[in-house]
Amino acid sequence: MVSVNYSSLEAIQDEIRKGDLNCVSMVRHYLQNIEEKRHLNVFLEVYKDEALARAEEIDLKFSQGTQGRLAGLVVGLKDLLCYKDHRIQGGSKILEGFESQFSATAVKRLIAEDAIIIGRQNCDEFGMGSSNENSPFGPTLNEMDNTRVPGGSSGASAVSVQADMCQVALGSDTGGSVRQPAAFCGIIGLKPTYSRISRHGLIAYASSFDTIGIFSKSIEDNALVLEVIAGKDDYDSTVSQKKVENYTGAISYDKKARVAYLKETFESEGLNNDIKEKTLGTLDFLRREGHSVDEIVFPLMKYALPTYYILTTAEASSNLSRYDGVKYGYRSPKGKDLLSMYKKSRSEGFGPEVIRRIMLGTFVLSASYYDAYYTKAQKVRRLIKDQTQSILSDYDFIILPTTPTPPFKIGEKKNDPLEMYLADLFTVQASVAGIPAVSIPNGTDKDGLPIGLQIMTNDFKEKELFSFSKYILDKQ
Ligand code: GLN
Repeated sequence: MVSVNYSSLEAIQDEIRKGDLNCVSMVRHYLQNIEEKRHLNVFLEVYKDEALARAEEIDLKFSQGTQGRLAGLVVGLKDLLCYKDHRIQGGSKILEGFESQFSATAVKRLIAEDAIIIGRQNCDEFGMGSSNENSPFGPTLNEMDNTRVPGGSSGASAVSVQADMCQVALGSDTGGSVRQPAAFCGIIGLKPTYSRISRHGLIAYASSFDTIGIFSKSIEDNALVLEVIAGKDDYDSTVSQKKVENYTGAISYDKKARVAYLKETFESEGLNNDIKEKTLGTLDFLRREGHSVDEIVFPLMKYALPTYYILTTAEASSNLSRYDGVKYGYRSPKGKDLLSMYKKSRSEGFGPEVIRRIMLGTFVLSASYYDAYYTKAQKVRRLIKDQTQSILSDYDFIILPTTPTPPFKIGEKKNDPLEMYLADLFTVQASVAGIPAVSIPNGTDKDGLPIGLQIMTNDFKEKELFSFSKYILDKQ
């Protein structure tokens, strides 16, 4: 029986090579944890027999020395990533009964390197939420404190890694949905540069923001998975053609970094004091280590959240128009004619938050308000992107807290959408700008709740991001 919570795939593979472990026992271990921690409500489906059968195959490959790079890695998938011949529903009733006809490129690449997919995980409906409470399957609980949320929208994927139900999980990050739950669960969560990973097979929420993201316990696992899944793809015309770097080679940082922090972040009204102190503590540590740390003013900061919510709701209203009761999933039996069938299927199939966003998005795109909202927000997005990149031409990294508060109580913000949106205050800047950002654990608050540190850098500098994150994690 496996009793160790392995921090990295390398440790698992070492044990397998020594003959002390195999993939079957690894999968059994995760299955047992999934079973014992069912109350956390993480998995919508567990591929028990299939994962065990795959594990046997990969053990055989190990014995023949033909295993892929991810042999021994067990992965969970947010219910927004397609896996051929498996059900997927984007955490929504409207896709009830739908099965993926193909696998997401990222999923295909994981499997080609012998990763084992263990199941499909709960999430906020279509990725819209910050607490995992917007799911028709009920909230997922934070393992650290079951009365608290794990964050969202990829909250269950974060908990699966936090609670050792798999080694790595893939989520999606449109405005913070990987970084924020990673912070709430005390693990690592990466949102790479927009377009670094193909979006083929990722159910769309807001296409110009959506990125697949990676949850892990170690920087090494995160780097390895990114190396495997990133890169050009004939099925996604927006994916970057840029060569994928060797993220796994020498993850070390021996330079003196130029670090910026934004004055406005630390002046934010809702910023929790423990989080503020911890983040300032990291900045002090970096100063002591001889890195340069400067305060920068970024007055546009207050526009990042409204810009994000105008543009993403606009894109969502368009993306979600395809769920009409005809092409996919749920169809209301109550429709009397075509139009009422559309209306009833959508009103019954979508949850309240998704409906709210479709309505907001339709409003900002309507003829009379298009210029006032949508066009204006596009212009502000450009300004935020340009100014963020201009800071990043003088500095290697921008450091800020991942979230303004520690994990909040289940139910605390559920009925106040604006309060909920504020949970993304610090994560949306990277999403609006399209730059990579990672959340790494940064200790706990006075009640022992996890705190996340966010590091942002310029486009396609994931290698530096991994190296610097590891340096901070190891040294601090
Ligand atoms: N919480 C944010 C939202 O509701 C971010 C979601 C995400 O990144 N998918 O839009």
